[in-house]
Amino acid sequence: MGTAPLRCAVPDFLHDDIADAQPVAKPQTTLDMNPEQSPPSPPTPARWSNPWRRFVAACLHDYNPLARRFWLALVLVGYSALALALWQLGALPAADRWQLLGWLLLLALAAAFPIQVPRSKHSIATGDVLVFLLLAIYGPAAGVVAATVEGLVASWRTSRRASSRIVSPAGAAFGGLLAGGVLSLLEPALRAASLPAAPAHLASLAAAAGVCAVGVTAPLMTVVYLKNGLKLGWREWLAHSNWVSAMYLFASMLAGLLSLNAQHYGRMVAAVSVAVIGVSLALLRMHFRQQDQAHAAQEQRVRAAEVESAQNQQRFHAAFTRASIGMVIVSAEGLVLQGNEAIGRLVGLDVQRLAGLPVARLLHPGDAELLQLQVDRVLGGEIETFSIELRCRDAEHREIWVSLHCAKFEQPGSQLTGLIFQLHDISSRRRAEGELQHIAFHDSLTDLANRNCFSQRLQVAVERSRSDPTSAFALMLLDLDRFKIVNDSLGHPAGDQLLKEVARRLRGCMRPRDLVARLGGDEFAVLLEDTRSPDDVGRLAARLQQVLENPVTINGCEMCTSASIGVTFSDMGYREPQEMLRDADLAMYRAKSDGKGRLVLFDSSMHDQIGQKLQLEADLRRAIGDGQLSLAYQPLYHLDPYRLDGFEALARWVHPVRGAISPAVFVALAEETGCIEALTTWAIDEAVRQLAQWRHEVPGNDALVVHVNVSGKDLARPHFVQRVSEVLRRHALPPAALVLEITESTLMEQRELALKALDELVAMGIKLGIDDFGTGYSSLAYLSTLPFDCLKIDRSFVSGMDKSAQNVEIVRTVLSLGLSLGKQVVAEGIETPAQLQRLRQMGATIGQGYLLGRPMPPLQAGALLVAPQPMPVGALLAAPQAMPA
Ligand code: C2E
Ligand code: CA
Ligand code: CA
Repeated sequence: MGTAPLRCAVPDFLHDDIADAQPVAKPQTTLDMNPEQSPPSPPTPARWSNPWRRFVAACLHDYNPLARRFWLALVLVGYSALALALWQLGALPAADRWQLLGWLLLLALAAAFPIQVPRSKHSIATGDVLVFLLLAIYGPAAGVVAATVEGLVASWRTSRRASSRIVSPAGAAFGGLLAGGVLSLLEPALRAASLPAAPAHLASLAAAAGVCAVGVTAPLMTVVYLKNGLKLGWREWLAHSNWVSAMYLFASMLAGLLSLNAQHYGRMVAAVSVAVIGVSLALLRMHFRQQDQAHAAQEQRVRAAEVESAQNQQRFHAAFTRASIGMVIVSAEGLVLQGNEAIGRLVGLDVQRLAGLPVARLLHPGDAELLQLQVDRVLGGEIETFSIELRCRDAEHREIWVSLHCAKFEQPGSQLTGLIFQLHDISSRRRAEGELQHIAFHDSLTDLANRNCFSQRLQVAVERSRSDPTSAFALMLLDLDRFKIVNDSLGHPAGDQLLKEVARRLRGCMRPRDLVARLGGDEFAVLLEDTRSPDDVGRLAARLQQVLENPVTINGCEMCTSASIGVTFSDMGYREPQEMLRDADLAMYRAKSDGKGRLVLFDSSMHDQIGQKLQLEADLRRAIGDGQLSLAYQPLYHLDPYRLDGFEALARWVHPVRGAISPAVFVALAEETGCIEALTTWAIDEAVRQLAQWRHEVPGNDALVVHVNVSGKDLARPHFVQRVSEVLRRHALPPAALVLEITESTLMEQRELALKALDELVAMGIKLGIDDFGTGYSSLAYLSTLPFDCLKIDRSFVSGMDKSAQNVEIVRTVLSLGLSLGKQVVAEGIETPAQLQRLRQMGATIGQGYLLGRPMPPLQAGALLVAPQPMPVGALLAAPQAMPA
């Protein structure tokens, strides 16, 4: 029962319980638990004919027959007692009746405003004192009426059910009847037993109060219990009636004292006392109400705070569980206390299964220790937080990169320290970084390591070998032979394909621990770990060459390749990776100049050669300006009839210290170092000047030509054609008097630009010749499409005619090719009369060679104009049959 404020005569809980038509809505009590509480179906209209039944249907429909009977009995007894009491009071003098009416109105007022005990379901009924006072002063009849009035007011205040409003005053009247009976019987008896008047009065009033409490509570509770089909035991009765009994006893004592005073000092004293008590009780009531309000406000604040706290908790819980970032709360021992949904998704585990797991189980084994080191620093108070990037593992043991932030927190309500980990998946960023890293350290064409990567590895290797002499390694540099020709003649895509294939083959030949890199262009490098033996390197190089020699088919064109390889070893005592690269490069350069497909191991003498070379290079630059160069002129002859056709101008350098230096050396050096431009410009100018001078000085030589050697690099220069034309104009020589010779290989190196220049030169009327024809790799068919006027058969074929029929065949083919294409063919390197004879028989028109005339100074050459030489006599004597057919 939710409330049980008690009044004199009728406790409120009884009103409520009886009154309530819908017990389910009531607070749960022992009395409410009866299943019969649910209202029975309304009686049928036929049964309403009887007024009692109509009343039952309207007000007692949820009462069982026994409860109804008990209810009715109590009402009859109570109202009979009230009627009797009213009848008795009618006999009072009028003044007393008016006084009593005044008291009853006061009582009704007091009953309407009980004093609620703060934070208790009980209240102090101030009317109780008046009930017992009226009983004491005016006798039992007044007591019955007073109890009925209080019961009536209280039931109207607390209940809306007619049944309750009827039975409660009846119960109160019954209680008042019993109290009056006890008082009127006990007090005279006690007086008779010679107890003084005052104690006898007080004792009998107390007994009356006790009986009244039983008289009021027991029948009304019985109604409730019967209604609910329960049996009222004395324990239940005591539990619900002790407050009522206490209040009744207290009220009866106060009323007793007041009534004794009234007996002594007149009823006014009682009236004044009651007024004072009333005022003080009103103040107390006000105080209690204020307290109640303050308490209610406090409770409201507490409730609001609780709601706020619950909402906060919900919000934080939601923020934790729904966060997109993975979070785990971990104990100091490294066990997961709680994880959120994101971490579950991250590691592919159900969130519930995370709790209790060692956090290390979520990590990659290789990174667990790393994390523990940092965690120890946090737990040791060295740092507050840390962030780290490490790898986790998901349920399928896949690696996930995360950025982990760790912070310490004190667990609420304990001294224990916990850790909160926030994990952010950075796998995609890591992958991107990895790709960037790969790009930064790999060659995009071949996917081999690039120069950057190779340099770093080489640096490490050099440092390691310095600190640990037992760790030896070799550095191998490879440069593809004739790659430029492939690139230029077949195009860059074909060149790229060849490079890829070479890269694949290279990698296939190496051990996994060797680093293969492409340094750029057609240059590759290999870092050979644990290699110190030249024999091992020799075997490896041989295998490499063998693998590279296997033909590659690109764009339907089958080609073989080879590489020039230079190697140096770490045990030469290198301090810097650059030193090692430089030496391997020297060795490779030497391999290249020694011929194709060679291996050269570096030795320190190469440094001296390089030093010399550098010196020579500087000297050559100076020589061109200082006039140390000169031109020698080698005559070219029409073979039939034999007459001077012109000269080939050949550069000569007499070094002030080293003497004459072979053009094969210094021309190559000039090409390599970029001096060739100056050399060619000078040679053309000088040769044209010389020819113009000869033509001018010796009339009748207007058909004489001069051949000048140019390199492919010259043709690629932007102003080359313009310069040549200027030179001719300056020396007033017709363009057809100048033949520019270019070797097939240097032409192919600069194909695109050179072809453009060739066209322009031809357009100007300058003659062009292919030098050393037959030694290159281009097809004759292709060369024949180029705008050349003459082909110079290479010396090796001419001199080789004595030795092999194949050479004779080549010479014959070139001659007939020239004939069919309308190009002049020059046979150079004629040294013997037999060669001359044979060439003439084969139809060669122009010849050059030591037999006909060596390269000679201008003065001597000029003499040939004045006094032409006869055909070497030996040629006529030589027997043609001495040569192979
Ligand atoms: P080249 O253009 O093939 O010149 C012909 C070379 O063969 C010359 O060598 C010449 O002396 C030599 N020679 C001529 N007839 C015979 C012979 O019957 N037997 C033998 N064994 N040799 C003969 P040289 O003067 O030593 O020139 C070598 C190369 O140097 C030339 O070969 C040419 O490629 C280059 N060279 C010479 N002068 C110049 C120049 O002014 N500019 C350029 N770019 N290259 C030049
Ligand atoms: Ca030449
Ligand atoms: Ca030649």
